[in-house]
Amino acid sequence: DSDLSRLILDRIRDVPDYPQPGVVFKDITPLLSDPEAFAAVTDAFAGLHEVDKVVGIEARGFILAAPAAYKARAGFVPVRKKGKLPSETLDEAYDLEYGSAVIEVHRDAFAPGDRVLIVDDVLATGGTARATVELVRRAGAEVVAVAVLMELSFLKGRERLTGVELHPLVVV
Ligand code: IMP
Repeated sequence: DSDLSRLILDRIRDVPDYPQPGVVFKDITPLLSDPEAFAAVTDAFAGLHEVDKVVGIEARGFILAAPAAYKARAGFVPVRKKGKLPSETLDEAYDLEYGSAVIEVHRDAFAPGDRVLIVDDVLATGGTARATVELVRRAGAEVVAVAVLMELSFLKGRERLTGVELHPLVVV
């Protein structure tokens, strides 16, 4: 949908040399603060598939996943950086663009066989999304798709998601 692509592209700001020299950071805050764009993105995520749960990846994924879950009448499940979730968790280590990390989900976040949509803002190297797919599967649910606002295709994150349906709203 080229109108949606334009709406998104016009409202994502390139910030050079953040968080380190040589990196151009995609800042989604102008998009979030625009009522029409935020609603259009939420509707697009919510309309992709019928699911039981929408997973948001900390922290910007939360902002996109929660309203999509509400709109789709699905539950919301947070995937968080290690040490933030209070109850029993499963964890997964992964490499990311600027280092490495461990993410967690509550062990009981899903009912067996729950259909799940994973949402995040940017797909870069794909490490975060891949780790989240593994976590959701290990927790007993089915990953229906991964949806992101923006895929940075030059980082080839898509290659780490073979066998998973990927829906970028825009690709750069
Ligand atoms: P990946 O694991 O390399 O694909 O990195 C994706 C994760 O890092 C996502 O959770 C994004 O929120 C974050 N990220 C990487 N690059 C950017 C960017 O340019 N803008 C916003 N978030 C980014």
